[in-house]
Amino acid sequence: MDAALQQLITMSNRLGDPALDYVILAEGNTSARADPHSFWVKASGTELRTIDANGFVRVSFPGVLEMLQSAAMTDEQIRVRLSDAKVDPLTGRGAAPADGVQPSVETVLHAICLSLEGVNFVAHTHPTAINALTCSAAFETAVSGRLFPDEIVLCGPAPVVVPYTDPGLPLARKVKELAHRHLDEHGEAPRVILMQNHGLIALGQSAQQVENITAMAVKTARVLIGAYALGGPHFMTLAAVARIHTRSDELYRRKLLGE
Ligand SMILES: [Zn+2]
Repeated sequence: MDAALQQLITMSNRLGDPALDYVILAEGNTSARADPHSFWVKASGTELRTIDANGFVRVSFPGVLEMLQSAAMTDEQIRVRLSDAKVDPLTGRGAAPADGVQPSVETVLHAICLSLEGVNFVAHTHPTAINALTCSAAFETAVSGRLFPDEIVLCGPAPVVVPYTDPGLPLARKVKELAHRHLDEHGEAPRVILMQNHGLIALGQSAQQVENITAMAVKTARVLIGAYALGGPHFMTLAAVARIHTRSDELYRRKLLGE
């Protein structure tokens, strides 16, 4: 089996573990870059907890991303275009077998995330702790600062914060705009996207990194909820955040070099 697909299945099953409380039922969706032209994405209606190779569809980047050029599309038009974007699961080219498996409605969102430099795996989940934040009146204030060093090492200097937007193409367009703004401001792709009244997206180079980012984002949400019970969060200064962030980058680079 394709190595990226194998890692994607393992990552999805772990993220779907009920004990972690990241998703229930068929909530959430995951994806991985297969090659420069195509990616694997969860099929509609499957559960992360038990998903296997049959639960993923291989789709073409151009076939999915060109949907962003269209003005308003009906749900049926979107369904047809997503189905047309499917490619042969073995070669990544040509027509897909007529297996009736339909890519997730959030496939466009995944295509945008996987198009960012250094992003090979993506997981979108609805953790209870994260949604306690994204569904709260304090959401934007609560995520406007960083709380502790390991949060910065795993989740980066800042999340992308997306105001509530209709799921599907409007949400995909909004995430694209805000992720590129983050890229301009921080010089690197975001690792965490928080969507108001919706949930979390973790973006990483590897499947393990995506799991780690999800776990740390959820821990941060729990810490925040505790901090609000004790008078509100005390954020780190921007200088302290920058110091940890650049230092962690340095460590990471050294690790890549095998030092
Ligand atoms: Zn969702």
